[in-house]
Amino acid sequence: MFSSSMITRSTEGCSDKIERLRKALSDADAVVIGAGAGLSTSAGYTYSGERFDKYFSDFGKKYGFRDMYSGGFYPYATPEEFWAYWSRYIFINRYMDAPKKVYEQLFRLVRGKDYFVITTNVDHCFQRAGFDKKRLFYTQGDYGLFQCSVPCHVNTYDNEETIREMYARQENMRVPTELVPKCPVCGKPMTMNLRSDDTFVEDEGWHAAAERYSNFLRTRRGKVLYLELGVGYNTPVFCSSRTGKKTAHYIGKQRISDVAYQTEEYEERWCA
Ligand SMILES: [Zn+2]
Repeated sequence: MFSSSMITRSTEGCSDKIERLRKALSDADAVVIGAGAGLSTSAGYTYSGERFDKYFSDFGKKYGFRDMYSGGFYPYATPEEFWAYWSRYIFINRYMDAPKKVYEQLFRLVRGKDYFVITTNVDHCFQRAGFDKKRLFYTQGDYGLFQCSVPCHVNTYDNEETIREMYARQENMRVPTELVPKCPVCGKPMTMNLRSDDTFVEDEGWHAAAERYSNFLRTRRGKVLYLELGVGYNTPVFCSSRTGKKTAHYIGKQRISDVAYQTEEYEERWCA
């Protein structure tokens, strides 16, 4: 287990933390990045304020929403209105580049290293910044994929063309009816491939990524740097695990800028 002396203290200066991280990265044989929503917020994917007002002022006026997140839960009366909202949401948070180059900077730090990323983020920022998709595991889905809402089968479907068209052709907070996506198998409505309940589809790609992640953890030895970025207590990525085992060890949850080494055998699960 990592030593308690490795835990970054809040009194430590910022430049000291950066230096510690630089050294930890250069010493590490492998790096596991766990990333949550805060990383995308720091990249400028904010869900309220100016961005909300720019793209959702009409919905805000009609329903009183103050942020995109709240509007995503609203039970819209028609699929045309639902998709007017969600196509904007997906378009600006998945297909438009993030305003700041945070992911690109992170990629420069690990490029050439033996790394793996596990993330609860569904916005595709890692891939757009150049991270190898074979070294990524998106546990909670992807805004860029549709799935059957039932679901009657476990395939997912790239939605870029449909989302762009819905975004471009909507009027008065409605998309044209012919653009409302239907399941190609059962004809029921399609929905986003996002984990919110037990209808979430874990498709072939999801399982392949889960297996690659598991293999990475199992096969790396030496100094493994765990870097957890932008997570809150609601959506941790590295969880303390092995509860229920008397010989429990824990992987401590590290906040942004903190680092830890873990070199012993361990298990891990995600619980976001
Ligand atoms: Zn279906």
